[in-house]
Amino acid sequence: MSTRNRKLKIAVVGAGIGGLTAAAALTQKGFEVQVYERSDKLGEVGAGLQMGPNAVKVIRALGLEDAYMKTASEPENRISLTWDTGQLRSQEQLRGVMEKTYGAAYTMSHRADLHSLLMSQVPEKNIHTGHACVDAENFENHAVVQFSNGKEIEADIVIASDGIHSVIRKKLFGDSKPRFSGQICWRLSVPMDDFLRVNEKSPYPFTGKEYAGWIGPTGHVLFYPIRAGELLNIFAGRVSSTWADENWAVPSATGEMMEAYAGWNETMLSVLSMATEAYKWGIHDRDPLPNLNVGHIAMMGDAAHPMMPTLAQGGAMALEDGMVIARLLNANANDPQQALIEYSKERQPRVSRVQLQARQQFLNNQLHPAPPPISVGWIYGHDAVDGVDFQQS
Ligand SMILES: Cc1cc2nc3c(=O)[nH]c(=O)nc-3n(C[C@H](O)[C@H](O)[C@H](O)COP(=O)(O)OP(=O)(O)OC[C@H]3O[C@@H](n4cnc5c(N)ncnc54)[C@H](O)[C@@H]3O)c2cc1C
Repeated sequence: MSTRNRKLKIAVVGAGIGGLTAAAALTQKGFEVQVYERSDKLGEVGAGLQMGPNAVKVIRALGLEDAYMKTASEPENRISLTWDTGQLRSQEQLRGVMEKTYGAAYTMSHRADLHSLLMSQVPEKNIHTGHACVDAENFENHAVVQFSNGKEIEADIVIASDGIHSVIRKKLFGDSKPRFSGQICWRLSVPMDDFLRVNEKSPYPFTGKEYAGWIGPTGHVLFYPIRAGELLNIFAGRVSSTWADENWAVPSATGEMMEAYAGWNETMLSVLSMATEAYKWGIHDRDPLPNLNVGHIAMMGDAAHPMMPTLAQGGAMALEDGMVIARLLNANANDPQQALIEYSKERQPRVSRVQLQARQQFLNNQLHPAPPPISVGWIYGHDAVDGVDFQQS
């Protein structure tokens, strides 16, 4: 830990999984980081999150892999089922194969579990809740951030991780509306034991260790285990030309969801019908940014590159961003602005390509017959910890 690291003032705006990864990685490298979060209470929505091998490598480098794996789940295999009859279409082994091919497991987490694990790495006194950023500005040698509570802070480096509606992005790159992607989804979970009881009628004998998907004419539904197999997480995506609500996630009557999948596989529907509540989301994304740095400010996570969940990589990219910022600031602690230039150079091409591939894959999924999936090996194999790709031995 260098003295210089301790002296640099770094502010992270937004304590989601991206901002907390950056703060955790920087703290571990000896930087003093202050995190400013709009909400009065820290937390995450109760939904599942797939963490591909590239994300798990970041978790490992933070020294958190063992703790993470205690609450996460590693599915045995990925199966595809016919949307109406529920027959097996294809099956692919995940456990063991992902580690061997890409250097880490393919895992599933409850968002809140990952969030609190990352938070445990940042001193509590450095996390300032109730700080909604309303403005950020670059000056010659520093940046200033203002909050709605009237406070103002000055920092050598500001990391903007304030999500898809980012105030800082708007300030630096202009006001533009996120794009409604043509997809809505419901997110819910049910106790695994309840799922396994219903499963007795299923043509496919579920064990609860599968990452299962049904792709139908108007959408796709995913089931996977989270919380060490205690819960079954459900993502029910649906193609839709409109999203009327001003909010992005709204409580939804489960009846509406059941109607949306009328005629789909019976076992799948009986599992959906167990849910007592569901949230409905309008999926939005944005076009890639030309650069991820402006002066003393770095953009990361959804603030920089919100993407469709088709590849389940938005959160993973936020984790990678956080790790790369920490690595480059550590390597350039005497010239932090240069670190941000290098950060943008390293990250912009990768995150833009993932953003656009997620869009394309969503469009491909609607074609009949659907073309083979676009390769994701280049995404999973990458190791943001040192910026190189995993070489299979
Ligand atoms: C339906 C769905 C499924 C998904 N599934 C996956 C998946 O399986 N795997 C995966 O990797 N990704 C997935 N994603 C993407 C993932 O959720 C996001 O990419 C990830 O949460 C981005 O993290 P973030 O920290 O950048 O932003 P956020 O999680 O949005 O966090 C932003 C934080 O900033 C705070 N904030 C906002 N505005 C301000 C402000 N003005 N001042 C201060 N603080 C502020 C917020 O309160 C929040 O705490 C999915 C997304 C959706 C919509």
